[in-house]
Amino acid sequence: MEHRIIVLGAGYTGAFAAGRLAKRLHPEDVRITLVNAEPDFVERVRMHQVAAGQDLKPRPFAEMFAGTGVELKLAKVTAVDADAKTVALTGASGAETLPYDTLVYALGSGWTDHGVPGAAEHAYEIASRPGALKLRERLARLDAGARVTVVGGGLTGVEAATEFAEARPDLEVALIARGGLGDWVSPKAQAHLRKVFAKLGIEVHEHADVAEVRPDAVVTADGTRIASAATVWTTGFAVHPIAAATTMETTERGQIVADRDMASVSHPDVFAVGDAGFAMGDAGSPLRMSCASGIPMAQNAAEAIVARLTGAKAGRMPLGYFNQCVSLGRSDGLIQYVTGDDRARSASLRGAFAARYKEFVCKGAAWGVANPTYGMPVRRRRIAKAAKPEGSAVKALA
Ligand SMILES: Cc1cc2nc3c(=O)[nH]c(=O)nc-3n(C[C@H](O)[C@H](O)[C@H](O)COP(=O)(O)OP(=O)(O)OC[C@H]3O[C@@H](n4cnc5c(N)ncnc54)[C@H](O)[C@@H]3O)c2cc1C
Repeated sequence: MEHRIIVLGAGYTGAFAAGRLAKRLHPEDVRITLVNAEPDFVERVRMHQVAAGQDLKPRPFAEMFAGTGVELKLAKVTAVDADAKTVALTGASGAETLPYDTLVYALGSGWTDHGVPGAAEHAYEIASRPGALKLRERLARLDAGARVTVVGGGLTGVEAATEFAEARPDLEVALIARGGLGDWVSPKAQAHLRKVFAKLGIEVHEHADVAEVRPDAVVTADGTRIASAATVWTTGFAVHPIAAATTMETTERGQIVADRDMASVSHPDVFAVGDAGFAMGDAGSPLRMSCASGIPMAQNAAEAIVARLTGAKAGRMPLGYFNQCVSLGRSDGLIQYVTGDDRARSASLRGAFAARYKEFVCKGAAWGVANPTYGMPVRRRRIAKAAKPEGSAVKALA
């Protein structure tokens, strides 16, 4: 009997973990099943580009995982029973329950309206591909002079506003930020953001809280009404409720609490990676939802699983930050160097070179998912007898 590893979610982290496990473990000893709701890899970091009308390179999983030994299952995950060690799925063949020995939980995140009235009904989101495609349709139908309002002054809001303003100079683009524009970056970088926003004609409303979204406007907490033909909500991500409905220890936000190996602190056979996992970085503060931390989380989880099953020493990736890479449309960008716990340093790269750097990082992230050992030769290890499920007839080799 093989050791059954199920990976839920084939975004940046789940697809990476599944591919890496398949490269590191002997195919006769393990059965790796990757469950995802969609048949191709979605480059989520480019959803603002999709909304702005750009087409992305298709990346079907059938090609990505051909010959790797990873078994793909196109299905929606509906529940996890972490005590019975099963997952419930619904797919083309109906509902089914699959047992696992080790689970990698990588269902990522979606958007949240933060309870603001009207946001769920009237705002557009770009945290998912369906959301980005819906906004793309809406933007394509807008007449010149119509206003698009991006709510949220974080990385996603800044990237979205600049992308839309560059792609559609005929539209009025506005950004509403709770703080100051780019107040998390260094003074030089902030000055660059202001310059780019001014050049693209983006109207900025700083220190403003949105209290209501209407079909044709947003209203801020001080009662200001800003006409808006399309409102784009980018105020943060929220995880799917599946983990919080289990007996696993989760945070208030529903992320699975994980240790340094990304193993659930309450159910060590479950590994949580990416946006769905809550873990501390090496600098002692929680990792934020991002590819920047999600991919090292996935690598650490895969290595920890290999170590646990084979007795090999786990290779550990550092869990921290180095830079924040922000696109400002296709021809400008900002690379803000940061401390390990994600605070801005004084150094930054700005302009066309930064745009190319960011593009390289996005391409690199997708390449890494398809090449989870980064092209390095690795040994597929046999798993130890103790790690095999009961009744195993496979000869154990360390
Ligand atoms: C517009 C935008 C720009 C961004 N820019 C950056 C950036 O520049 N740098 C950065 O580091 N991060 C960025 N991020 C954040 C980054 O995209 C996420 O942190 C990252 O995608 C998380 O990876 P993940 O594998 O945890 O989840 P995801 O990439 O979201 O993957 C989750 C997978 O699970 C699948 N799934 C979800 N629910 C189910 C279900 N019930 N059943 C079956 N399958 C399911 C989904 O289809 C998906 O394939 C950006 C995000 C957005 C939206």
